[in-house]
Amino acid sequence: MNQHSQQPIIVWFRRDLRISDNAALYHATLRARPIIPLFIFDTDIINSLSSDGAAFNFQAECLQDLNEGLQRIGGRLFCRKGKALQVHAKLIQEASPSAIFYNRDYEPHARDRDRAVEQLYRSHGIEVQSFKDHVVHEPEEVLTLQNRPYSIFTPYMKAWKSLPVQSPFPTPAKITVAPVESCGILNAHDLHKQVTIPRPLCRGGETQAKKVWEQFIRTSLASYSSNRNIPSIKGTSRLSPYIRFGCIAVRTLYRDLLALKSIPIEAFLNELIWREFYQSVMYHFPDVLTASYKRAFDTLPWNTDTEFLHRWRSGHTGVPLVDAGMRELNQTGWLHNRVRMVVASFLTKQLFIHWKQGEEYFESKLLDIETASNNGGWQWAASTGVDPKPLRIFNPELQAQKFDPEGVYIKTYVPELQNVPLQHLFAPHRMSLDEQHRCGCIIGKTYPRPIVDHRLASEKFKKAYMQLLR
Ligand SMILES: Cc1cc2nc3c(=O)[nH]c(=O)nc-3n(C[C@H](O)[C@H](O)[C@H](O)COP(=O)(O)OP(=O)(O)OC[C@H]3O[C@@H](n4cnc5c(N)ncnc54)[C@H](O)[C@@H]3O)c2cc1C
Repeated sequence: MNQHSQQPIIVWFRRDLRISDNAALYHATLRARPIIPLFIFDTDIINSLSSDGAAFNFQAECLQDLNEGLQRIGGRLFCRKGKALQVHAKLIQEASPSAIFYNRDYEPHARDRDRAVEQLYRSHGIEVQSFKDHVVHEPEEVLTLQNRPYSIFTPYMKAWKSLPVQSPFPTPAKITVAPVESCGILNAHDLHKQVTIPRPLCRGGETQAKKVWEQFIRTSLASYSSNRNIPSIKGTSRLSPYIRFGCIAVRTLYRDLLALKSIPIEAFLNELIWREFYQSVMYHFPDVLTASYKRAFDTLPWNTDTEFLHRWRSGHTGVPLVDAGMRELNQTGWLHNRVRMVVASFLTKQLFIHWKQGEEYFESKLLDIETASNNGGWQWAASTGVDPKPLRIFNPELQAQKFDPEGVYIKTYVPELQNVPLQHLFAPHRMSLDEQHRCGCIIGKTYPRPIVDHRLASEKFKKAYMQLLR
């Protein structure tokens, strides 16, 4: 073997913390060269991200599992901390790589960073290869006949489904690494990130992701369309943190779904497509990250009352389903989709607080924080985004009656309401004083009075919204 063939390939892991069905890793191993499996604790990201320490611990668990996976095939993970460009400049000097391979990221700041990194490597005559991996179909692939991006989900979904899908990439059987110095895997404590979430939803890592997916297929996929809106049961996959960190590939999910001949998969598949739709919206309309897609709605007379915002964040609004949801988020770093929609609608359309405030709070708490989906979800809930629908304002009381009819979810997260009879559970403030005493829940003392009147608040929002539409 000549010296040139020993020049390593850097495989830069980012949102793809797994060894199975990993496009960049697989393609690097085809070259039969030593590999430097690299993860960078990017200080630009760490310093700008408001995420809770629990998300950094989740990431550390993913990296630990990735390292173990790499060890099983003869390798290991090398970590560095610093600004991405500087880390790469140093590695070029130290390791004289022949190439760098990575999977593409569609967030605007990541695209800027990757352009700079690519330029750096090319300026040293080093090959750069990037791959599609975070999505089944990239934003540039799902376009209208006029080559324009979609802003409405249904035609996007139809176009998405009409495209051929890449099969999963095999897990490499063996790799050889070119060792470099490593700072080791850093967790929240090492990165000086405070952990406020006491009971994170799940542990990170490819091994866990696979188990969660297999169990979901075995126990819940068949009933997904009927159970997916019930927050008290495990009716959805709870894969979102794993998908976010790339512990499982969406190609693999798609392949596994298609193999299930006797189980209806459409409802679940459509949710995966919603995720890619929002990636596409962020890619083609990056301004949505700083302003409403429908700009005029930024001029609504949004409420800047911090007391309301604080009550919403902590789950003390006096509206049981909203409070249960916010407390689930604060305790586990995750929230059921139905309840995400309810709390988001409540913040924007009842408290009249700008969706940006909610988006930021979710960013600080969610383990599955995905900029595109979070932004898309918030703008959808606030009716300021793409895919226009007639204005709809969720009534949290009716939502609770419909989706938590026995009050199991509410009682799990709002223990003050434990003994409130079911007929009053969704609006406990309507109990008489006698009833309050009988169940030990005194409104205004044990549990707050609702901070807004649903009907009045809805009318106010509707009026302001409709005025802008005219
Ligand atoms: C206000 C708001 C904010 C949100 N923020 C995020 C976020 O930061 N990260 C995130 O992954 N999802 C976000 N969602 C979408 C959705 O709530 C979560 O993906 C879902 O609750 C995750 O649970 P699950 O894995 O059990 O989902 P499942 O129902 O099992 O769905 C499977 C996968 O499909 C994707 N998915 C499902 N629903 C949606 C959706 N509506 N939009 C985009 N992707 C979807 C997720 O990757 C999910 O893991 C948000 C929704 C709203 C209304």
